[in-house]
Amino acid sequence: MRICYMYPGAKFKALTFSFDDGVVQDRKLIDIFNRNGLKGTFNLNTGLRRFRELSAQEIKEIYAGHEIACHGEYHPTFDQIPRSELMREVWHDREKLEAVSDTVITGLAYPNGSFSPEVMDILRHAGIEYARTTVACRKLRYMPEDFLAWHPTCHYRDALEFVDDFLSEKRPLPLLFYIWGHSYEFDRGVKNWQFMEYLAARLGGRDDIWYATNIEVCRYQKAIRALQFSTDGRRVYNPSAETVWFQVGWEGTPQAYSVAPGETVEIKEPLETY
Ligand SMILES: [Zn+2]
Repeated sequence: MRICYMYPGAKFKALTFSFDDGVVQDRKLIDIFNRNGLKGTFNLNTGLRRFRELSAQEIKEIYAGHEIACHGEYHPTFDQIPRSELMREVWHDREKLEAVSDTVITGLAYPNGSFSPEVMDILRHAGIEYARTTVACRKLRYMPEDFLAWHPTCHYRDALEFVDDFLSEKRPLPLLFYIWGHSYEFDRGVKNWQFMEYLAARLGGRDDIWYATNIEVCRYQKAIRALQFSTDGRRVYNPSAETVWFQVGWEGTPQAYSVAPGETVEIKEPLETY
C-alpha cells in the first residue's frame, strides 16, 4: 500500500517560523508576516523587563493569530542550572504566558540552544509538548522523532539556500521548511528588514503551502503518527483531535482523503495495483 501523508488542505508543503526573546521588533516582523499570510511562533521570557513592560492587552494584540511559547522565565542556559530551578523557569513562564494570552502554552524554544536528555525529561513533566533547538537540520524532509528535540531547517540568514528547492518541489512528498531567528537581528547587517520582506514575499501567499505555527505542525504530525489502519489497509481510524489528510497511490490519479477526528474512513482505491 502506498500512502503519502499530506498537510491540511491536501498540501505537500508546510512553512513555519520560530522567533525568540520577544522584543519590540516582533511587532514589525508580525506586520510582515500578516501582510504575506505567514504564521509563526514567538518564544517569550516573562521574567525580563521587555515582557513585563507590556500589558496583557498589548501582548494579545501584538501576537494575535500567531503562537506564543516559552523561552524560560529569565532566559537561563537550561543544562547549566539546578534541575529544580529549571522546573520553576518553565512552569512560571507557562503560567505567566497563559495568564496574559488566555490559552494553554505547551511550546518552548531552548534559551541559548541548551538541551540534554535530562532537560527534555523535566520539560515533559512540566507539560511541554515540543521544544525547538538551535541545531540546523538543513533538510526539508525532516520531522523529529522526539518533538522535545526539534531541529529547525535553518537560521533565517541561511533561508535562501532552501527557498528554491522548497518552492520548486513537485513530487508528492511532505516538506517542512522551519526557519528560526530573533527579530532584533533584522536591525543590523545585510540580512536585515529588507531581506525579511524579500523572503516573506517569496514564500508567502501561495496556495500549495500550509502556513502554520509550530504547535500546529507538531500536533498535526502527532495525529498522523497516531492513525490506525486495519490489517488489510482498507480502513483507517483517526483517534486524534486533528483532521488528517493523505493520498493513496503515486501514479495515475491518486486520491486524497481527509479523516476527521474520531472518524473511520474506507479506502476505495484498488490498493493492490500500487
Ligand atoms: Zn533567546
